[in-house]
Amino acid sequence: MEILIIGGIAAGMSTAAKALRTNKNAKVTVVEQEDYVSFGACGLPYFIGGQFDDENNMYARTPKQMLDAGVNLLLKHRAERIDFKNKQVIVKDLDKDKLKTLSYDRLMIATGASAIKPKMDGIESKNVYTVTKPYIVRELVKNLDSYKKVVVVGGGFIGVEVAEQLAHLNKEVDLLHSREFIMEGVYDKELSKLLTKALIESGVNFIPESKAVGLKVEDGVVTGVKTKDDTYKADAVIIAVGFKPNTKFLDNQLESIDNGAIVIDKYGQTSIKDVFAAGDCATVPHRLAGNEYIPLATYANKLGRIIGENIVSDKEKWQQFNGALGSSSIKVGAYEAVVTGLTEDLANKFNYKVNTTLIQANNHSNYYPNQEKITIKLVYDKETFVLYGAQIFGPSEAVLRGTGLSVAVHAGLTTKDLGFLDFAYSPPFASTWEAINIAANTAK
Ligand SMILES: Cc1cc2nc3c(=O)[nH]c(=O)nc-3n(C[C@H](O)[C@H](O)[C@H](O)COP(=O)(O)OP(=O)(O)OC[C@H]3O[C@@H](n4cnc5c(N)ncnc54)[C@H](O)[C@@H]3O)c2cc1C
Repeated sequence: MEILIIGGIAAGMSTAAKALRTNKNAKVTVVEQEDYVSFGACGLPYFIGGQFDDENNMYARTPKQMLDAGVNLLLKHRAERIDFKNKQVIVKDLDKDKLKTLSYDRLMIATGASAIKPKMDGIESKNVYTVTKPYIVRELVKNLDSYKKVVVVGGGFIGVEVAEQLAHLNKEVDLLHSREFIMEGVYDKELSKLLTKALIESGVNFIPESKAVGLKVEDGVVTGVKTKDDTYKADAVIIAVGFKPNTKFLDNQLESIDNGAIVIDKYGQTSIKDVFAAGDCATVPHRLAGNEYIPLATYANKLGRIIGENIVSDKEKWQQFNGALGSSSIKVGAYEAVVTGLTEDLANKFNYKVNTTLIQANNHSNYYPNQEKITIKLVYDKETFVLYGAQIFGPSEAVLRGTGLSVAVHAGLTTKDLGFLDFAYSPPFASTWEAINIAANTAK
């Protein structure tokens, strides 16, 4: 059986590795346009911040490991178009500038997404960076000593992570964001507001409701970022305004949503038989919100692995994904936050009838050092009290509590269950009434 995989990072390589483990007779070919595989972009903000020095730590596997495992790896090859009817992919050997035709029995599309670059004069200047590719970030890190003032455009995950790491390096950082608070959309406003305060405390100069509309370019170098009202001086600029799925080469042949992400089902199948997709180029089946675009490594890896099994198996043996909850976490300066399931905004968008509770509780007993307040918001059904989502913010011990709440949302527990759920207690870790019990018992 000929398995062809386009894209060799999280989703693609998870599929390749699992397919080979599941069916030793499968012939697995991976086409990747870069000269590396299995790169974990999640480490990039912390590489910039000097939390570790060895770039190699961000690669889960080397090309040699994949070749040794039996993968036919075509690096520096780009899929140009697909003839789904004849099950053929036309690829370009980028070194030789030559086209080749590859046939498949089953195909996996794992082409990820690219950082959106707004159309502005100067956007291609060498001191304007996006944070997705290792070779771009290598340049940034190499030049960092010569940059004092950095402007970050975009207050989502990547902009925030990079800004707080640059502040940690004592750079002067301006973060321009189009909304009032960072991370709005991922968190409800109460939590976004706390995250924004944490970012400011970490040393970042946050400029709310400020959209970058242009760049100031002098002698081919960007020296500032323009908003409607001002120009922010910059020795370097980081653009972090979102992602676009890499699906243009498919010529709309597969069912997709507005941003171009391929629609998949719980088996990872697309709208064309024998064609699978996952990761940042595809949607994710969500347990509470239908099919959503959530470009996170967790889903690329999980769906990639499920497809790895399905792509080499008969349909009756297929695995299915048990559904995303959109869980994610973030560190902002001295604080951390986590979200799982539906926020209040999302619940309203999907017409759930919900109530919410928002409390502050202690992380652990008062006589044990470093007692701190954590903030918890629960979103639950107005009538049945079934928990649909949770958000937690605090200086420490917030994110792992969120992991517990992901289980609760997944299992469909009610706030009444949670109020008396038997969490462990000892003074260094909790209070006799664990913070989650306390939050759940305030649900009315
Ligand atoms: C800075 C940063 C921090 C992140 N932090 C987190 C985090 O903390 N938690 C989390 O869950 N997620 C995080 N993510 C998201 C995570 O990295 C992605 O969800 C994940 O990499 C997606 O994997 P993928 O395989 O779908 O796509 P990608 O990693 O984008 O890989 C796709 C590959 O396909 C190749 N390709 C594209 N088109 C073609 C073509 N036509 N032919 C051949 N090859 C092609 C590309 O070159 C690329 O190498 C972060 C991302 C970034 C950038």
